[in-house]
Amino acid sequence: MIKVSDVIVIGAGAAGMMAAIAAGKRGRRTVVLDHARTPGEKIRISGGGRCNFTNRDAGPSNYYSANPHFCKSALARYTPQDFLKLVEAHGIAWHEKTLGQLFCDGSAKEIVAMLLAEMAATGVELHKGVEIVGVERVGEHYRVTTSEGNLEAPALVVATGGKSIPKMGATGFAYRIAEQFGLRVTETRPALVPFTLERGCFPSFRSSPDFPARWKSAAARRCSAKPCSSRTAASPARRSCRYLLSGVKAMPFESAWRLMWMSSLR
Ligand SMILES: Cc1cc2nc3c(=O)[nH]c(=O)nc-3n(C[C@H](O)[C@H](O)[C@H](O)COP(=O)(O)OP(=O)(O)OC[C@H]3O[C@@H](n4cnc5c(N)ncnc54)[C@H](O)[C@@H]3O)c2cc1C
Repeated sequence: MIKVSDVIVIGAGAAGMMAAIAAGKRGRRTVVLDHARTPGEKIRISGGGRCNFTNRDAGPSNYYSANPHFCKSALARYTPQDFLKLVEAHGIAWHEKTLGQLFCDGSAKEIVAMLLAEMAATGVELHKGVEIVGVERVGEHYRVTTSEGNLEAPALVVATGGKSIPKMGATGFAYRIAEQFGLRVTETRPALVPFTLERGCFPSFRSSPDFPARWKSAAARRCSAKPCSSRTAASPARRSCRYLLSGVKAMPFESAWRLMWMSSLR
């Protein structure tokens, strides 16, 4: 038997749950499917277990993308203040750390519980531990074949996240589905990684006029370049480097550096 709904969401992470809540609030019959037994696992470990759930000043310039306009409409229609109102409506205590970063006072699990409660309140059905066998277009509907039977809906949201941390359920599912439906997929690579530099590069990197001002004022001030020692230089790539920048504050450098390098080629 085929179960028909208005919206099927694959993935019960932050994105899938928020999408399902938005659909549920519009009165759409919404079903969320996830192969994991526990929803929102990455939220649970986020922000060192306290979830840096938003930033007061988040705006389009904070996002790296091949298409910098992509995030504008989403951010205009749902602001950090909207999410903060939701957090407060659920009585979750929070604090501001630095540079507008907002964290739970207690546990990131409170954010997961809030999203589950919002889904339940809007009548969203959540099916955990479901294997997705395939997705196909059948007339005006998408048909999702699962280990629990077939579902159809005119709207399908694929919110299965990125590839990081496979042991928490991450897969390349979304990329495969995009390819199946002829959508262009950009190159994927780890974005939050330690950054390696030749000796002497770091000071000139930081003072370069192309270096984004926000990194100069924020992250750059807060990370230090450590010479690679034989102990830290475990891999051949690391052995050839002179300095290794690591830690949360330094990790976005890799993306900033790549954007500067790409724009220098244009
Ligand atoms: C250590 C760490 C700390 C972080 N800290 C923060 C922070 O403080 N603040 C912040 O904003 N962000 C933080 N992030 C990033 C944030 O956690 C993620 O960007 C966000 O949770 C991603 O949500 P998502 O819904 O896109 O994907 P995911 O959370 O990855 O959700 C995808 C869901 O899809 C399911 N799925 C995958 N493949 C399939 C499949 N084939 N079939 C069915 N289901 C599938 C998965 O089981 C999962 O439940 C952190 C990340 C990490 C790893």
